[in-house]
Amino acid sequence: MTRRGRGVGVALGVTALAASLAAAPPLADGSRHGDRPAATVAAFSSPATVGAPLAGVRIALDPGHQLGNHNFPAQIRRLVPAGGFEKPCNTTGTATNGGYPEATLNFRIARLVEARLQALGAEVLLTRTRNSQSLWGPCVDVRGEFGATVHARLTVSLHADGAPSAARGFHVIAPTARSPWTTDIAGPSRALALALRAGFDGAGIPRSTYVGGGSALSIRSDLATLNLSDVPVAMLEIGNMRNASDAHRMTTKKGRATYARAVVRGIRLYLDR
Ligand SMILES: [Zn+2]
Repeated sequence: MTRRGRGVGVALGVTALAASLAAAPPLADGSRHGDRPAATVAAFSSPATVGAPLAGVRIALDPGHQLGNHNFPAQIRRLVPAGGFEKPCNTTGTATNGGYPEATLNFRIARLVEARLQALGAEVLLTRTRNSQSLWGPCVDVRGEFGATVHARLTVSLHADGAPSAARGFHVIAPTARSPWTTDIAGPSRALALALRAGFDGAGIPRSTYVGGGSALSIRSDLATLNLSDVPVAMLEIGNMRNASDAHRMTTKKGRATYARAVVRGIRLYLDR
């Protein structure tokens, strides 16, 4: 979408930005976000990253949901802007049949992706830096605006689906081109989604059997995280948590490393670096 920023100056350093977010006033309902966006900053300009493939690139990651969302129903139900309409702040997310929560999966994969990107010289910022039963949020509007707020080159939102157990595989989601919200980012966001799909294809992760008719691509207009982004953004549903085969990959260290490698490969393909 094209509109003014949130009052955060371009010259503001990331540490100062985190401090300014920390000092943000309470929300209208009197509470604060359970987990405000915070910065995780690599040694951006240290000699170790000079010449690294992703040196000078700032990337936003959005681990979907928060482990404690189900403990804060009123906060989670609160309506927030979603791109010309309103949606609840957040949802609880899904889980495997064995009870492994999506919020935890998303967070662990985000941390793995973060580490790999930092090792390649990138600077990485997360919409949430904790995964706790005592926290909720941030809301989807904050997640959507996050990439532009921190001046990231792109945002990848990490999720996993909860579909009938026979269905399996990953799919990528990009925003519809809808004026005035996403006309400026729809094209590059689709390219990012397709690059992420290529990363997953290359890692041998199966495409969705239930979304996209074999393309594993979905273009949607109903997601605030996509609608409110001012930088190229794609959402990944890395698999179906209710499917035994997908759940096995999600609940093993080796499997999660495969997902993380695939995400990083996709980002590098998109950046051509
Ligand atoms: Zn989700």
